Amino acid sequence: MPVSRRGTVDNSLGLSVHHSVDAVSRPDHGAGSVVDVAIVGGGGAGLSLVLALDQAVRVSGRRPPSIAVIDPVRRSGQDRTWCWWASAEGQPEWITPLLTRTWPTMMIKDARGLADAYDLSPLRYQMLRSADLYAAADAALERLGAIRITGAADRVSDGMPHAVVRAGDERVMASWVFDSRPTPPSGPAATSLLQHFRGWTVRFAPGSVKLDQNVATLMDFSVPQPERGVAFAYSLPLSEDSALVEYTEFSPAVLDSEQYDEALRSYLARTWGGVPYTVEEVEDGVIPMTDATFARRTGDRLFRLGTAGGATRASTGYTFSAMQRQAAQIAELLLEGRLPVPPRPYPLRHRWMDAVLLRALDRGYVDGPKLFAGLFADNPSDRVIRFLDGTSSPADELAIMSSTPMTAMTRSAVEDATGRLKRRFARR
Ligand SMILES: Cc1cc2nc3c(=O)[nH]c(=O)nc-3n(C[C@H](O)[C@H](O)[C@H](O)COP(=O)(O)OP(=O)(O)OC[C@H]3O[C@@H](n4cnc5c(N)ncnc54)[C@H](O)[C@@H]3O)c2cc1C
Repeated sequence: MPVSRRGTVDNSLGLSVHHSVDAVSRPDHGAGSVVDVAIVGGGGAGLSLVLALDQAVRVSGRRPPSIAVIDPVRRSGQDRTWCWWASAEGQPEWITPLLTRTWPTMMIKDARGLADAYDLSPLRYQMLRSADLYAAADAALERLGAIRITGAADRVSDGMPHAVVRAGDERVMASWVFDSRPTPPSGPAATSLLQHFRGWTVRFAPGSVKLDQNVATLMDFSVPQPERGVAFAYSLPLSEDSALVEYTEFSPAVLDSEQYDEALRSYLARTWGGVPYTVEEVEDGVIPMTDATFARRTGDRLFRLGTAGGATRASTGYTFSAMQRQAAQIAELLLEGRLPVPPRPYPLRHRWMDAVLLRALDRGYVDGPKLFAGLFADNPSDRVIRFLDGTSSPADELAIMSSTPMTAMTRSAVEDATGRLKRRFARR
């Protein structure tokens, strides 16, 4: 027997909508489920919302909304590693026990291999493995009594008093839908690059190396550079003799598998000589870097989350922090019975700066390694991190802009403005 209760949620028009809620089980096949919140796409963003809701319910003691998660894949195991900057206190409580590692110091190496170390205090660079987030989300879904539908959502439609999600024969009626299915941007792009990478978790032969576990090498630009864009290696020590080592490009197209392997082999050989190692895990990824716009709201009851909702920072590919900021705020709005519109992932001025930077990188107006290494060399590291994270102030950004190559960036900014004007006139 489905357990039902009545609830009231404000809709976008400011009216109160009464809805019945199927809290714990699915009604008979074909009838469909009625929930407060349908999460379409149970990946990074969808499950972060689940974890944020679970935490907000525990902290507030409020009644949880009823939830359905719809995804053809029930995510588990290690398919990606999330890394980002945060302070121990400045992040959601649920994250801390899940972290694999944190590093207080960050290293950047320029194209000649000259290294600069930056003390990140009070921040740190930190790593969370997807396997741990997915397992925590499974437990949270259980506590929240959520429904899980393992199927692809093929139609999501807005409506009154419910939006409807269809996944094959399944039908979910929801007060609010948060959709993170991969989707094209809602506006045109002037510049699009890909951040594509392969990471190896390597274990060096016993006793052959002693890695400094306090130092994360975030960008090592001493690798050969692509014709367009920029490349760097990344090395995050996990123990004295193991590390996640990645080769990353910001460029127009992905490489062949063998090219990533070769880039990693030669980076390891150059950095650690001929020390033998074994590869324990492989991680591949492609993240869009684009100045196109992504809608956060697509209907009265429909919202977009994650990369599909514009949470991926165009100039860096970082997404995780913005997803957490959005998830925490949406959870709060939902529990307060307010309109749960995801907050803007980044201020508009950041989107403009990203567009200018991305254009300058793509068109070859700036030397990528010099630009990124220079940002850290010429500014306090916390300022650069706030900028990369999307939380910097206008004063931070003025300082950042003045440390970039002025002529190249002005050229890029003028072209960007002209392009926008042309697109606006073309639309009329
Ligand atoms: C390998 C990798 C490493 C990354 N590392 C970092 C990092 O270190 N730091 C950082 O900030 N960002 C990182 N990112 C970027 C970003 O954080 C991740 O891509 C993140 O997973 C984005 O979350 P998402 O929910 O938008 O997308 P996803 O996590 O990809 O989730 C989308 C979900 O939608 C589901 N779906 C697809 N079609 C349907 C359908 N029809 N119906 C229902 N569900 C559907 C998919 O199965 C998937 O589960 C990384 C990305 C990758 C790929």
